[in-house]
Amino acid sequence: MAIRKKLTILGSGSAGLTAAIYAARANLEPLVIQGLQAGGQLTITSDVENFPGFPNGILGPELMEEMHKQAERFGTQFIYDNAESIDLTKRPFTIRTSSEEIVTDTLIIGTGASAKLLGLDSESKLMGHGVSACATCDGFFFRDKTVFVVGGGDTALEEATFLTRFASSVTVIHRRDGFRASAIMVDRAKQNPKVKFILNSVIDEILDVSKGEVTGIKVRNIITNEVQELPADGVFIAIGHQPTTDLFKGQIELTETGYVVTDGVKTSVKGVFAAGDVQDELYRQAITAAGTGCMAALEAQWLIENEELEEHDKEKKTLVSPVANQS
Ligand code: NDP
Repeated sequence: MAIRKKLTILGSGSAGLTAAIYAARANLEPLVIQGLQAGGQLTITSDVENFPGFPNGILGPELMEEMHKQAERFGTQFIYDNAESIDLTKRPFTIRTSSEEIVTDTLIIGTGASAKLLGLDSESKLMGHGVSACATCDGFFFRDKTVFVVGGGDTALEEATFLTRFASSVTVIHRRDGFRASAIMVDRAKQNPKVKFILNSVIDEILDVSKGEVTGIKVRNIITNEVQELPADGVFIAIGHQPTTDLFKGQIELTETGYVVTDGVKTSVKGVFAAGDVQDELYRQAITAAGTGCMAALEAQWLIENEELEEHDKEKKTLVSPVANQS
């Protein structure tokens, strides 16, 4: 039998769990469909130094565990599964996971975003065999090794600095000579004697697929077109993220880059709200995701309460009108 809910939340990152805390405290008994990467992107981060309230920083996985406990404490239910299909064409909405059907009056989309890849054949073949999209998860395996980090944003620079804890040499490969990363991150990486930079360059190939491990890379300077082959033990891809919105394509308005279009946190479908990275191409911070998660829960709560009031008024009118007719 289908699970009937007033509010369902898709995703268990900072946005989804904050929404759950607010909704549970409003007695909405929300259901969180956690996704198979429960806890979202912060679970693959090391130190979080910019989430207010933690002057000494907190580990990403620990922060998410605390949020989960806080949501659970007020009565949030969790399903540890991905949503496989969703029907937003009529309310209540229907969501299917591999084993459950959920029928819900309102929905908060907090499905976040996932790591973008270069698209090289060798990259996909060597993923998990020296190629990684998560320094925090895999850095430990590269003790005293030579590694490369691709990208010029905060993630790439943060990962490069983090990897110096393990690797003997870390080289950032970036396709431009200007960085998207904040100045403090760039300075921190530049001041680290283990970090080197190869700029205006891209990786053409990761070697060696035939050996089933990373032994080197072919790097091309995009200005001179010169290609050099460098020995490598690991390659970390840190070139940004793709919003997780495939399930909603054709059902709600999305931007050209696939983010959910929102007005505040309202989407183009009444009763569907979006929070966190899935609707935020600009800020993409744990704290902004938490903020929009809170907003989405409040919007869902207000909609549910208004509709319940309207329903109540309708019932009252139906009860009152026969008496009114008699007088
Ligand atoms: P960004 O989108 O900010 O940066 C992606 C980087 O990858 C850019 O330098 C981009 O190059 C490069 N890139 C993109 N596609 C390719 C490609 N196909 N080949 C080669 N290079 C490519 O993503 P981030 O993940 O770095 O950051 C996302 C957000 O998270 C940002 O808002 C950031 O500030 C935040 N963040 C904050 C942290 C903190 O505060 N501690 C830590 C990590 C992230 P180009 O510049 O040329 O476009």
